[in-house]
Amino acid sequence: MLKVNNINAFYGDVQILFDITLEVKQGEIVTLLGSNGAGKTTTVRAITNINPVRTGEIYFDGERIDALQSHAIAGRKLAVVPEGRHLFPNMTVKDNLLMGAYSISDKKAINEALEEVVQLLPRLKERFGQLAGTLSGGEQQMCAIGRAMMIRPKFIILDEPSLGLAPVIIDQIVDTLEMLRDREKTTILLIEQNAKLALEISDRAYVLENGRVVLQGNSSDLLASEDIQKAYLGI
Ligand code: ATP
Repeated sequence: MLKVNNINAFYGDVQILFDITLEVKQGEIVTLLGSNGAGKTTTVRAITNINPVRTGEIYFDGERIDALQSHAIAGRKLAVVPEGRHLFPNMTVKDNLLMGAYSISDKKAINEALEEVVQLLPRLKERFGQLAGTLSGGEQQMCAIGRAMMIRPKFIILDEPSLGLAPVIIDQIVDTLEMLRDREKTTILLIEQNAKLALEISDRAYVLENGRVVLQGNSSDLLASEDIQKAYLGI
């Protein structure tokens, strides 16, 4: 469904990504793991063309998308939950969700999407009129996921959804991702530093170091690998 072929990306003259190749097939949860500064967010920004790649190709559903504008990529039903959530703190939960539908002009479709999102994430309905800036960290993450779901995505990229959250809240996020995959049939690319969480929930994984893919494989194999345990799981 998503194919990233040999992409190279730069900030100015500084090369950040080196020949990154990865694939996410329909129905999978794939994780991209790496420590601080490995290039995970830069990869997301390359896929969504916020930071265009210099060389390489990106395909979504068979269509080449690396020259499309970011809003056109969203129009293909590829949604992103960015690192840090980027909610509008002085707007209500409802208005933040509606911002996710800015590219949709049909009011009926927007209301249907809103209804579906709050059915899937009922906690958001309870908080509908609350300012997003006053939500707990976990509720903010749910709101950011809900906002991404407003376009009824086929594919969601989540950039470090567990960051700064307590383990019990992370469990809720994991349940939400599994629900998206199983009930909504959403394909997921999960960007994480939390290797244990990411490997437990995903089907396959890529490990990024200094802008390069250094390991890839089935998540269960990686979880059992001594190298991964030493480098990422502190075992
Ligand atoms: P983290 O988990 O800490 O968010 P990451 O794996 O997502 O890390 P990136 O944010 O992709 O890493 O950063 C990769 C490298 O690119 C880092 O060395 C970072 O300093 C550099 N970088 C990121 N954004 C910019 C920018 N706007 N200008 C210049 N360099 C940048």
